[in-house]
Amino acid sequence: MAALVIEDTIPVRYESWQDWRAQKAKEAYERAHRPLVEPETIPCPTCWGQRRIWVAAANGEGLIPSICHPCLGTGRVRA
Ligand SMILES: [Zn+2]
Repeated sequence: MAALVIEDTIPVRYESWQDWRAQKAKEAYERAHRPLVEPETIPCPTCWGQRRIWVAAANGEGLIPSICHPCLGTGRVRA
């Protein structure tokens, strides 16, 4: 019997619940064995890997955190 599952608001059809289980187990295995940091990247020298930098507030009342543009908020750049 086919299985119909809603994933990210999109209905997805599997041939059987065993196929769905195998797919979920495969995704979990890939998640568990993914490297913690992307290979061939270094911490962003602008924000030091913090993902945000302090910029002057528009109203002139101090500094506010803003997304670091060189790394696009990831904290890492290509080596
Ligand atoms: Zn950065």
